[in-house]
Amino acid sequence: MNPQRLITHYASQQPEILETIRKLVVEETPTDDKQRLDAFAAKLANRYRAAGLDTEIIVNPVRGNHIRARAAPTRVADANAAPALILCHYDTVWPVGSLDTHPFRVDEQGWAYGPGIFDMQSSLALVEYALRGAQTLNLQLPRPVTVLVTSDEEIGSPTSRQLIEEEARRAAYVLVMEPPLPGGVLKTTRKGGEHFTLMISGKAAHAGIEPEKGISAIQELAHQILALHSLTNLEIGTTVNVGVVNAGTRPNVIAAQAEARIDVRAWTKAEMERVSAAILALTPVMTGTDVQVTGGERRPPLERSVTGALFEQAQTIGHTLGLDLQEGAAGGGSDGNLTGALGVPTLDGLGTPGHGAHADHEHIEVDQIGGRVALLTALLMKLIP
Ligand SMILES: [Zn+2]
Repeated sequence: MNPQRLITHYASQQPEILETIRKLVVEETPTDDKQRLDAFAAKLANRYRAAGLDTEIIVNPVRGNHIRARAAPTRVADANAAPALILCHYDTVWPVGSLDTHPFRVDEQGWAYGPGIFDMQSSLALVEYALRGAQTLNLQLPRPVTVLVTSDEEIGSPTSRQLIEEEARRAAYVLVMEPPLPGGVLKTTRKGGEHFTLMISGKAAHAGIEPEKGISAIQELAHQILALHSLTNLEIGTTVNVGVVNAGTRPNVIAAQAEARIDVRAWTKAEMERVSAAILALTPVMTGTDVQVTGGERRPPLERSVTGALFEQAQTIGHTLGLDLQEGAAGGGSDGNLTGALGVPTLDGLGTPGHGAHADHEHIEVDQIGGRVALLTALLMKLIP
C-alpha cells in the first residue's frame, strides 16, 4: 500500500464523497423517528451493498433498525483473523424540519453544514469510501472488517449496546467514527457517565392548619442535593449534577413527594465507583422521610490503557499520509466507552474534522475528507492490536 496513492485516490474522490454526504444529511434521522430511521437504514444498506459489503439489516422492534456490514471475503487475507470493528451511528439529535433552518450548504471557507453532518452522517460516507477504495485499489485487508451502524447512540445506545458488545468481544480492535476534537484530534480518553433518580417521600399536611403533622420531602431533598453536589471534585474532573427536580403540589401543602434526576461523570472507573457507591448509600437526614435511589452505569469511562497503543500506531501511520494526528480527552461518552470497558483496544474520534456537534454551527471541513478516508483505509491495512 503506497500512502501517496491513497491520498491521491481519495483527494480525487472528494467531490463525490461530499455529494454522498449531502444525500445522507438531507434525510434527517432523529433518534425518535423509527419510520425515517428504518427508511434511511434501508437506503444506507443498499449503498453498502453496492460498495461490495455483505450487508444485513438487524430489525429493531423499538428504535430504528441497525446495520451490520462485512467486507467481502475476497478482499481479506486471513478470513479467520479477528475482525476490525468499525462503529457508526446514523441517528442525530436534530428534529425533523431542521433542514429548513440549517440547510446543507458549503460556505466560502469550505465548511459543509447540515443537521448531523459532523456527528456523524459524514462518517457513514468515510466508511463506505474507505471500503470501496479497498476494492478499487485492489488492496488485501489483513483481517475481516465488520461495520456496525446503529440507530440510538444519541440516547445512550439502549437497543444497540448488546450488539456492539457482542461484536467487540470478537474484534481485534475497534475504530469509532465519532467526530474528532477541534483540529482533527483523536479521542483517547472519555468520561464515563451515569444517571440516577432519587425518590423521596415525606408526609403531606396543610401548611397553615396543621404544619406540625407534615414532613417535607422538599426539605429532605434540599439536604440530599447538597450532599450530592459535595461529591463533585472538579480538580480530577468528577461531577455530580442534580439537573432535574420535581416536587410538591401547591404552596399551601407540605410536600409528600420529591424527585431528583442526577448526572454523574468521571474520568476513571475508580471515581465512578466511589461516587455511585456514595449515591446508592444515601440515607434520610430527616426522621420520617424515605429515600430511594435507582439507576446506575450508562457508559463506563474510556481510559488510555485501552486506547494509547492504537493511538501511537495511528500517529505513525498518519505521518506516512502527511497527517499530524494528536490525541485528547472528551467529557462526553460514545459507544467507544462500551468497547473500551471490555478491554478491547479502541480508537475514537475518526470522523471528519469540523466543529459544533449538536450546535447551530455544526459543520465539517471539506478539504479534510480525502485525508480522513485515506487514514481509515491505512489504519485497516496497518494497525496491529
Ligand atoms: Zn455521535
